[in-house]
Amino acid sequence: MKDKRILTGEELVVKIGKLSVGGDNPPLMIAGPCAVESRQQVMETALALKEIGVDLLRGGVFKPRTSPYTFQGLGLKGLEYLKEAGEKIGTPIITEVMDQRNLEAVVEYSDVIQIGSRNMYNYPLLKEVGEISKPILLKRGMSAYIKEWIMAAEYIAAYGNRNIILCERGIRTFEVYTRNTLDLAAVPIMKSETGLPIIVDPSHGTGRRELILPMAKGALACGADGLMIEAHIDPKNALSDGQQSLTIEEFNKLTLELKNCGFLKKV
Ligand code: PEP
Ligand code: MN
Repeated sequence: MKDKRILTGEELVVKIGKLSVGGDNPPLMIAGPCAVESRQQVMETALALKEIGVDLLRGGVFKPRTSPYTFQGLGLKGLEYLKEAGEKIGTPIITEVMDQRNLEAVVEYSDVIQIGSRNMYNYPLLKEVGEISKPILLKRGMSAYIKEWIMAAEYIAAYGNRNIILCERGIRTFEVYTRNTLDLAAVPIMKSETGLPIIVDPSHGTGRRELILPMAKGALACGADGLMIEAHIDPKNALSDGQQSLTIEEFNKLTLELKNCGFLKKV
């Protein structure tokens, strides 16, 4: 199988504007709220994160929620707010696309296109994002074998787009103490199998605020090329994933600790 693959393990570096991810580049720090909830919320968050230092601003506008009765995201309006906030702080943005019908808009507004865990198996969507040239963040399906995740990346590459960043976000196991089981062994495995940069999302990977810092350190120690962390100005009142979102102060502490440990550069 490997001899037929485009992603053979040869190291690839992905560019996001002026940023480079993978290889010897410093870890990419992605942070922001689970969901864009209002213009003010995303703007306030962005300004606070800018002070601390963040490479990419995240925020979901099309939210894959388990219940149809919970907040589904602000849609295109949210995309405008996220872009405005990113421009204000001079940082590229990332958001998830779930439906091909919104791809054009997401490609127009967002610097990186996220394929969420639930869509890792959505082969028509993978083919579509294979036909664009913007960087794709491909999250691991929550029940995906490494082999299936490799082939999902291969779909995107096969359709022409090699600007792929992988994201380990935890898998379902028998253990329910944490929201998911964060599979850090996937980091070196995926790097050597595909050569693609890989980041880790300890927020969805654990679902618990107090575990974000230790798992972030673990991820970087395993060779992850970056982190994606949910941070919110008021987690208690967040419309989604408040329990795993760091406050701005906690995100600041995490950044300082990663600097003290030598994982991030002190500026
Ligand atoms: C997200 O990052 O917003 C998200 C929904 O994560 P996942 O697809 O990993 O569940
Ligand atoms: Mn979330």
